Amino acid sequence: MSKKPNRIKPIVIIGAILVTVSYFILTVERQQGRPRNRITAESGYREIMGTFVRIMAVAANKQTAQTCVDKGLEQLELVDNLMSVHNSKSEISEVNRDAYRHTVKVSEPVFEVLQRSVEFSKLTDGAFDITVGPLVDLWYQAGKENQKPTESEIASAKAKVGYEKLVLDAENKTLRFTVDGIRLDLGGIAKGYGVDLAARAMQQAGVLGGMIDVGGDIRCFGAPPRGKQKWSVGLQEPKTDEKGLVSHQLVLVLEVVDRAVTTSGDYRRFALIDGKRYSHIINPSTSSGAEGLSSVTIIAGNATDADALATAVSVMGPEKGLALIETIPDTEAILISSGLEFKQTLTSGAEKYIKK
Ligand code: ADP
Ligand code: MG
Repeated sequence: MSKKPNRIKPIVIIGAILVTVSYFILTVERQQGRPRNRITAESGYREIMGTFVRIMAVAANKQTAQTCVDKGLEQLELVDNLMSVHNSKSEISEVNRDAYRHTVKVSEPVFEVLQRSVEFSKLTDGAFDITVGPLVDLWYQAGKENQKPTESEIASAKAKVGYEKLVLDAENKTLRFTVDGIRLDLGGIAKGYGVDLAARAMQQAGVLGGMIDVGGDIRCFGAPPRGKQKWSVGLQEPKTDEKGLVSHQLVLVLEVVDRAVTTSGDYRRFALIDGKRYSHIINPSTSSGAEGLSSVTIIAGNATDADALATAVSVMGPEKGLALIETIPDTEAILISSGLEFKQTLTSGAEKYIKK
């Protein structure tokens, strides 16, 4: 009898074991969203929505990764074109021109943002309010002229502010203003919403993981780049030097998986009048710049919520703001107070995200 079958048998068995083991490893890695091939594509810095934008996509091959980056950027451009108040052709500019004279029908994304905004106004007792436009403009102008607005200018702007002056019709996707001169400003929520749309488009295009950063409104999801277990997000020191340049010192680094991290602050954009700094975030109850917090970082499941809440907490201040965030599930806050010592205050579950 030939010995051949005896030599072949072990080879076949070893081969079968190897195939099974590799299949098992690949399956486990896939289930954990960590397939072997993790190719990263990056957009580099772009200017969209009046700020710097960066997208990173992790995919199984270069082409998919690049397509995912492009799809993400496309969504940010779309949101910018719909919601920018600095573009007279945007849908929101049209709303601001016409919604007092007649009911205006808006697109699905704009309606969604309007609806979410009103929900946040109710949740935050009016601290978050997209009708602050007239006050935003007034304080911006005041900063340019180095002169505080007069009482009567403030009173006249204030008369046009208040989310209860909006009439939304969910069935017909329409909006109407009940007072003349209302100006919506989606600056406190549109960036976060854009980030969420971009993330969804990237996921539909087959991304394994990604990171989208729109001027500090960040969302990380899925598999991080090869060699990493989590996504790292650095929090900048909330201060500017004499020339107005933002500090590049990091206060801390967060490590997250599937989270949005957004930061609002008074250190990048503000009006300077007689040496006093007025935040670009308006407190609707005082009609003036929000005070007390230099930077508010919210960690949440999506960037729309995180963006709106960061703006709201900047207005509400440390006590009320922190108390609100403690009531919202899976949502955390890191607050840095104004003043020289940059005191940090955290919600009870924030610590677990901080890199040791
Ligand atoms: P940043 O623009 O620094 O990322 P935010 O997300 O907090 O910070 O957005 C601030 C912008 O939100 C302002 O420039 C203005 O357009 C708008 N805004 C100001 N005050 C409020 C407010 N109380 N509620 C909602 N939006 C606001
Ligand atoms: Mg915001």
